[in-house]
Amino acid sequence: MSDEWQRQLSEFINTIEKLKQYVNLTAEEEDALRSIKTTWGTTPYFASLMDRDDPACPIRRQVIPSRQEQQNRYGMHDYLVWKENRATDEQRPDSIARQYRDRVAFTVTQTCGIYCRHCFRKELVVDGDLKLDFNVDEGLDWIAKHPEIRDVLITGGDPFLLSDDQIEYLIRKLRALPHIEMIRFGTRLPIVLPQRITPGLKKVLGGYHRVPIWINTQCNHPKEITETTARAVYELLSCGVNVGNQAVLLKGINDDVETFRELHQKLLKVRIRPYYVFYCEPAPGIDHFRTPVEKGAELIRDALRGHTTGLAQPMHVIATNVGKIPLMPDYYIKGKNEKEYTLANHLGEITTIPNIPE
Ligand code: SF4
Repeated sequence: MSDEWQRQLSEFINTIEKLKQYVNLTAEEEDALRSIKTTWGTTPYFASLMDRDDPACPIRRQVIPSRQEQQNRYGMHDYLVWKENRATDEQRPDSIARQYRDRVAFTVTQTCGIYCRHCFRKELVVDGDLKLDFNVDEGLDWIAKHPEIRDVLITGGDPFLLSDDQIEYLIRKLRALPHIEMIRFGTRLPIVLPQRITPGLKKVLGGYHRVPIWINTQCNHPKEITETTARAVYELLSCGVNVGNQAVLLKGINDDVETFRELHQKLLKVRIRPYYVFYCEPAPGIDHFRTPVEKGAELIRDALRGHTTGLAQPMHVIATNVGKIPLMPDYYIKGKNEKEYTLANHLGEITTIPNIPE
């Protein structure tokens, strides 16, 4: 039913009373919910995936605020200003964040289908400490005047919470610019509100065009993937839109070998291509989710590379103010001389190949 997604939003789970229909809150959770001034909540669909009695449930920890969010030791203040280069000399509207010459992130809303407790845009989206003006037409005008921009990532908040007409407007305006070669959407809705993938949205996104549409979603744990997810992703693919995943490495949620492998295998089972795994960024209030920097590369080595299909191999990256920096396992090249390279596989088995001069 096409308007099921609107019903889900009208019944958004963002009060203690509503939340108690899904979980038996611990005293700590209830205390945090009552005392922390923050935006929180998710859809009834996503809330129904939470474990009723386990406060360590990986979905529950992403949804319910914790007192630990107030113990910020390592998070950088004004993180987004630093990360999105908002203090540079270039004149840009608030909606445009730029780290690269040929592509920009275009923020079109601050509203989300889940207010993730680990969000790196928390200052903006969840806590509301950073006030920005997201004027869509100003952003479109800026992009129109910058012919070097060939790739636009439409982000938020969650851009799929806009109406079909608003999404159609954005796509139409961008496609009219001769320098735009691709449009990407960053959206968590295929995971937290898969009902949003309606025939109406498919009509807006689908069909052949010179400028393709790509989607990246965020799924962090195998429990987040259901038959409803599989159907929604299939609908997107069937109208010509590819879906990738950008997981965030989260301590106690997906930073063990079994979960990490299962997540990436299950993503492929529902036709989502693993794209990135992000180091949990040094944004304020999320220290308790952060692993050591090396952890992501270790997990790629121990859970994925050689252990499962090459399609299930995301790139582990650290997102910074100078762009994404890949941190992958570095065990492959053991040595090199004039005659050969010595290489190691994921099990430490050694082989050699000829060193062919240029
Ligand atoms: S959906 Fe995205 S922008 Fe919204 S809170 Fe979650 S991570 Fe942040």
